[in-house]
Amino acid sequence: MSDVISLIDRLSRDRSLTVEEYEILISGFDPGAASYAASLASSVRSDYYGDEVFMRGLVEISNYCRNDCLYCGIRRSNRECVRYRLTPSEIVSCASTGYGLGFRTFVLQGGEDPYYTDDVMCHIISSIKSMYPDCAVTLSLGERSHESYSALFSAGADRYLLRHETASASHYAKLHPSAMNFENRMRCLQDLRDIGYQVGCGFMVGSPYQTPYDLAMDLKFIETFRPDMCGIGPFIPHKDTPFGSEPSGSCGLTCYLLSLIRMIYPPVLLPATTALGTIDPMGREKGLKAGANVVMPNLSPVGVRDKYTLYDNKICTGEEAAECVACLSSRIKNTGYRLVTDRGDIRKEKINGKV
Ligand code: SAH
Repeated sequence: MSDVISLIDRLSRDRSLTVEEYEILISGFDPGAASYAASLASSVRSDYYGDEVFMRGLVEISNYCRNDCLYCGIRRSNRECVRYRLTPSEIVSCASTGYGLGFRTFVLQGGEDPYYTDDVMCHIISSIKSMYPDCAVTLSLGERSHESYSALFSAGADRYLLRHETASASHYAKLHPSAMNFENRMRCLQDLRDIGYQVGCGFMVGSPYQTPYDLAMDLKFIETFRPDMCGIGPFIPHKDTPFGSEPSGSCGLTCYLLSLIRMIYPPVLLPATTALGTIDPMGREKGLKAGANVVMPNLSPVGVRDKYTLYDNKICTGEEAAECVACLSSRIKNTGYRLVTDRGDIRKEKINGKV
């Protein structure tokens, strides 16, 4: 048996490897290893989630951003980006549309836009929660203070997504301007957990300068932090950024990493991301087969979708939300899974009762 296959077996048994072993797994990525990992990952996924796929309605509330991340199309320095922000009532109305389509989780994501003060956000969150008490509100608004995260949690926010982007401080420094730092990103994740949020981290696959060691550090971080959610997708260049001519990350390696993460922490909520669907027409289906169990269709008004461009060629910018759900639902059915109407909380126990 090859080293890689025996390491995959050990990972699926112990849920843990050393950083050096993770690095061997990543360097040893090939189609055989990937399909072996996918078969183990989809079996453990079904122990916790059966054939269910959870959906979250993504509302892209603003593309104004005070940050200047080198990879991101809505970075502050991008003068070509046509800026927009949604008003509180537009955001609540996206949630209403989504509720009618079966969404029970709304993800409010945006650049770090100072317009959305704690007062404005608390008003939006409490409006949605009072209209739809059976729904979860997830925020993805970047780095804020402990005090701000606490205020938003008290207003009713349930979950927070903040990708760590890379678990290696030196790699982090190559992807971000000096005004941002790895320690603050990690401080935010810890604050969010301490406050009581269900927390999501995550990273890009194939981002510039990334090595197998950096990805091994990401896996070790996930093993120790045990996030409720983990968003990973391929890096895709955006033409108006400093990384505009860098190559994209691959669908195959992203799916392999989804499988490894599923094995490391079986209950984790893992989205098959829009970036994965952008890099490969069947990317989201491949992600689900590799162990993902969440999809995040777009609920943003059609008029702003093509302005929230983190990377080039983003899919699903033209259709109304209802069309997106219908399309995704049939794609998921063809993959052998089932899109469900559910808040989609993490399940820490196997559904057949065994832990
Ligand atoms: N401002 C928020 C939301 C950022 S956008 C925050 O800081 O969390 C959500 C995610 O999109 C980012 O965390 C990043 O991982 C991803 N992203 C940004 N640019 C990308 C690119 N060029 N290719 C792929 N993913 C990208």
